[in-house]
Amino acid sequence: MKSNVIPEIKNARALERSDDIRMKLEGTLAEAVRFIERNQICEVGLWRKFVEVFRMHGDGIGDVWVSWRSEYWGKMMRGASMVLQYTNDNGMYKILEESVRDMLTAEDEHGRISGYSVEQEFTRWDLWGRKYVMLGMMYFMEICRDEELNHAMIASMRRQADYIIDRIGPGKLDIRTCSKNWEGMNSCSILEPMVRLYRLTGEQRYLDFAEYIISTGFIQSANLIELAYADEVAPHDYPVVKAYEMMSCFEGLLQYYYVTGIEKYRTAVLNFGHRILDGELSVIGCSGCTHELFDHTAVRQTQTDYKGIVQETCVTVTWMKFAAALLELSGEAAFADRIEQSYYNAYLGSFNTQRALFSDKKMNDVPQVLPFDSYSPLVADRRGRKVGGYNYFPDHTFYGCCACIGAAGAGVIPQIALMRSAQGLTLNYYEQGVIHTTTPTGKALTLTMDTAYPYDGKVRIALETEADELFTLALRVPAWCQKATVTVGSSTQEAAPGYVQLSQKWQNGDVILLDLPMRVTRVLPPEGAVNADVFAAYQHGPIVLAADKRVADPDSVLALQCDEQGTADSRAVYCPEIREAHLCLEVALENGEKARLIDYASAGKTWTEESRCAAWLYQKPLA
Ligand SMILES: [Zn+2]
Repeated sequence: MKSNVIPEIKNARALERSDDIRMKLEGTLAEAVRFIERNQICEVGLWRKFVEVFRMHGDGIGDVWVSWRSEYWGKMMRGASMVLQYTNDNGMYKILEESVRDMLTAEDEHGRISGYSVEQEFTRWDLWGRKYVMLGMMYFMEICRDEELNHAMIASMRRQADYIIDRIGPGKLDIRTCSKNWEGMNSCSILEPMVRLYRLTGEQRYLDFAEYIISTGFIQSANLIELAYADEVAPHDYPVVKAYEMMSCFEGLLQYYYVTGIEKYRTAVLNFGHRILDGELSVIGCSGCTHELFDHTAVRQTQTDYKGIVQETCVTVTWMKFAAALLELSGEAAFADRIEQSYYNAYLGSFNTQRALFSDKKMNDVPQVLPFDSYSPLVADRRGRKVGGYNYFPDHTFYGCCACIGAAGAGVIPQIALMRSAQGLTLNYYEQGVIHTTTPTGKALTLTMDTAYPYDGKVRIALETEADELFTLALRVPAWCQKATVTVGSSTQEAAPGYVQLSQKWQNGDVILLDLPMRVTRVLPPEGAVNADVFAAYQHGPIVLAADKRVADPDSVLALQCDEQGTADSRAVYCPEIREAHLCLEVALENGEKARLIDYASAGKTWTEESRCAAWLYQKPLA
């Protein structure tokens, strides 16, 4: 079911997702989806436990370690529904449907679905959790096969929203005081489901409430929308800098733009997104080298004196989702480049593929396996340091925010892999597999990709069409590739980073060869970076190479012999010490020795010092 009661303004999106683009990809995405299905979606007990939170109403009392459990269900339902939109798996669908039905029975006599009691409501993370309940239902509606269930969800969401609107707003509670965290920014992020509910129902009061939230500017001490619109300072200079909550507010603002067409908000959202691109991301594609905060990550990512947690998985995934939304809005390839960077490095790195146990002695809990790690090292450190968003349950188990958000990251990839443009189709993502869709005039079209991407840069794309047709197929040439070529038939052309537009009459059996030559390339920290002269990172295509202590000591100097262009020779080798490594390259060091580096996503997976790892490698000892 589509949320299309209130239409979007026309031509607001440069690129569009489409229901008639179906695909089956066999590379990293297949692996990620299988992992998510087995380690999360099929855990029926987990879904039940998360729904119980809304019957207990215990999140508002006691210590902080029970105060945001109400985000878990909706966050996990959103990600799971995104994955299901891609897989369409019947068994998994049944599990989600049953959980949604269970959730509908957790509504209390006031029409609330909240983890908080009426006495404790509108404090801490209450509105944040209610946001996720509604978003979970809205994302499930996108895959729901039962119209009656859709209507039941909408009816419930109306009651949930009406209860809030009756108590918060002008002359009532100030939404920014409904949480003591982050000047109420977490509460303001309920903007997104309110706008979506307006689209679903056509009820003006939800739009009015969205406008009220926008009028607050998201925090108490400044107006973040005006700051983004003016574009004079970067997000790390805003008065509140919590990365994930802030992006969540701007996701809602973008939805508001789509129903109103007010250009100012389009500009504000895009300015904010460009500022993240320019200064708030690390080499692995996450933000925040000081806790979970925007902190000018581009220049801080090489710091060694901060011992706290960095690079939160919630930030990685929220950024991937937000970047996908900005890609749709703007059609700028840079956003697709950055999704790729986050996906292959920070995101896939967070998968707990070795089923490492986590326990927090302070919490006195029982060791437990969570599907995703919460924090990713940049300079030498170990994985599995802490469970982000840790909250515990009456049965003495625990879960975390990042574990819940994980699935949404994989869900982003099928949404952006192939998109519709005004002229035809745009291919953003290359992995072995098949994509079924239609041409601009509605004829069946199949694209078959043969490739070992992201580990090799040769991509063969074969077209099967019903009839000859003139349209544009745009292919993304990633920013890391300066020497790409595209061959169609007998003609080969060079292609600069960005989109190469192939406009021609396509015929059944046409073949495109995209060559994205991959060499190990040195990445230097940006100007002004901390320890800029000490560190370098190395990439092979979109893959960041890491030192993993099992094969290369991340605390030692690992300076590669590079030519004047900063590229190095390498040889793919088998890695018996880390058999699960996707890529292992033998390289020559400046000191004449050889070393082996592996793909960042495979590094650190024991979550112990044994696999201590780093993306930024010492080029000389730290003074
Ligand atoms: Zn998190």
